[in-house]
Amino acid sequence: MSVVDRQEWDVVVVGAGGAGLRAAIEARERGARTAVICKSLFGKAHTVMAEGGIAAAMANVNAGDNWQVHFRDTMRGGKFLNQWRMAELHAQEAPDRVWELETWGALFDRTKDGRISQRNFGGHEYPRLAHVGDRTGLELIRTLQQKIVSLQQEDFKETGDYESRLKVYQECTVTRVLKDGSRVSGVFAYDRETGRFFVLEAPSVVIATGGIGKSFKVTSNSWEYTGDGHALALLAGAPLLNMEFVQFHPTGMVWPPSVKGILVTESVRGDGGVLRNSEGKRFMFDYIPDVFKEKYAQSEEEGDRWYEDPDHNRRPPELLPRDEVARAINAEVKAGRGSPHGGVFLDVSTRMPAEVIRRRLPSMYHQFKELADVDITAEAMEVGPTCHYVMGGIAVESDTAAARGVPGLFAAGEVAGGMHGSNRLGGNSLSDLLVFGRRAGWHAAEYAVGPAGARPPVDDIQVDAAAAEALRPFSAEGPAPGEEDGRPPENPYTLHQELQQSMNDLVGIIRREGEMEKALEKLADLRVRARRAGVEGHRQFNPGWHLALDLRNMLLVSECVARAALERTESRGGHTREDHPTMDRGWRRINLLCALTDPTGGLEATDPAHGQIDLTRETTDPIRPDLLALFDKEELVKYLAEEELYE
Ligand code: FAD
Repeated sequence: MSVVDRQEWDVVVVGAGGAGLRAAIEARERGARTAVICKSLFGKAHTVMAEGGIAAAMANVNAGDNWQVHFRDTMRGGKFLNQWRMAELHAQEAPDRVWELETWGALFDRTKDGRISQRNFGGHEYPRLAHVGDRTGLELIRTLQQKIVSLQQEDFKETGDYESRLKVYQECTVTRVLKDGSRVSGVFAYDRETGRFFVLEAPSVVIATGGIGKSFKVTSNSWEYTGDGHALALLAGAPLLNMEFVQFHPTGMVWPPSVKGILVTESVRGDGGVLRNSEGKRFMFDYIPDVFKEKYAQSEEEGDRWYEDPDHNRRPPELLPRDEVARAINAEVKAGRGSPHGGVFLDVSTRMPAEVIRRRLPSMYHQFKELADVDITAEAMEVGPTCHYVMGGIAVESDTAAARGVPGLFAAGEVAGGMHGSNRLGGNSLSDLLVFGRRAGWHAAEYAVGPAGARPPVDDIQVDAAAAEALRPFSAEGPAPGEEDGRPPENPYTLHQELQQSMNDLVGIIRREGEMEKALEKLADLRVRARRAGVEGHRQFNPGWHLALDLRNMLLVSECVARAALERTESRGGHTREDHPTMDRGWRRINLLCALTDPTGGLEATDPAHGQIDLTRETTDPIRPDLLALFDKEELVKYLAEEELYE
């Protein structure tokens, strides 16, 4: 019988980034007693790192903008694989979510006439990103935190307890979603500082844990991004959607090695920065794909004129969607025209006065000065692709953010799939967090406290199993059952490094069948070894133990990425196959779903040498005719499958 501490809530939100906090605010405002749990310090979520801005068609800088244009850009960016209803809701609701932030105290940069300023970004037809210098995520999180504190103060006035209706558990990691039959009943978690286990009981759980970048060696992502939410959903029986689509941002730092992968924001290009190869050529003009030819400048002069007069000129190709720019940089480096440290040059120094650079891009200025001893007001940066974002994620209902197949489970933010199709446009994540964070909180609250609300009991056996699973790294000296004797425990750090290297080299920006097969073999080997991942010491703040637990999640999501990438025999958005280099219209309607081989969520029973993931194909819903009518027929012909055109 388990003696783990338990507390009761209506809604538990796992993750305190933009999506989690927005969900928690909504759930509390709709009457649900809500707990937020995060493995970082409160306020330190990955969202804080967001630089460029929030995409919302507010039309403050160009009156031509509206939700329909934003929807169109998002679908084009995602190469029409987006869950179109999500893209529609997102484009329609993003402006209200930005306004709402201002009413809660956010202070965005202004236009000369006092409106919220909006900047250009790749793939967006008009200046659309509301921003605060290049520190937008910080302002977003600060504002949501402030709102949470103000709700807690309201609750204190009424109940005498700040945490009676909204409580944050910081530096705590959730390792399992608990269930009663098919329904959610709560989560199992541990406190990272003390190692103490506890259970939060709740009929609704919102997963908002962000991305998976820490499975790759070169990444812009923070330490939290170990794919926990993706794995929690899989283990709870919810499928993941289109995990092959991983975004490699074109511009990460490449030097010095200790900072390789750290992001260089797209605002640098949005504000006028240009990409050059070792010969000084602005090479992006050679890489404009046919589907975008009519929308992008064909000469440097036209591209430069666009910054001043966007209505009469086309945008420069440095502002193509990220997947296109990342592939172009990769090709230049491969062709021997790279910079000394294996990237290309990104230059603002010849494009803007030093004082403007320092004002508009303060973080970039300090980042390069302090980390690389480069003064970006006087010299070019060296940049190259870095693993940045995962478009794949938990399969959700578009309107409600409910995870498929598991009543009571919801997902929002980067961990949810569908919204961005095969490639996300910059700025569309922060708006996604707000739009679908709110929707997840709303529907989670409705499910928990609405008329149909029930409180499923927590099963002691599951709690004990979760505790045993979490403790296993402390007793890993011996061999796992059925394995030969005498092998020492594996070091979780070594396993993690091998995983990151394999994913980077074999399932990275350019993919090949043989390499992905090799990656799956390597993952099978790592899975066997990870069962012997052992740590010394005790449960009080033990980073090796935390990593040993995170490995389960990274191995699961990496297998999903590799299997789905091997299956999709075309190139689309963030998924580039050297052996299938073109986009195939026949694949436009195909979603790939990953589910756990053992539907009960057990990993013990499965043979670790074999895969843990089953892959199935699913045909997507036809795009609604009024949304299709927003595009020219000639454009649709490039994307839609033959039968869709006839329909
Ligand atoms: P996060 O903000 O990452 O929050 C995840 C939360 O989950 C954290 O609190 C974490 O502690 C918690 N968590 C994770 N696992 C567990 C667990 N097992 N148990 C408990 N808690 C857990 N997008 C834009 O739209 N515009 C931009 O300008 C932009 N700039 C970016 C710049 C950088 C450098 C990077 C890396 C990304 C940028 N992005 C940008 C992308 C965007 O920041 C992210 O996609 C977004 O912030 C993700 O938010 P989220 O709420 O889904 O997750």
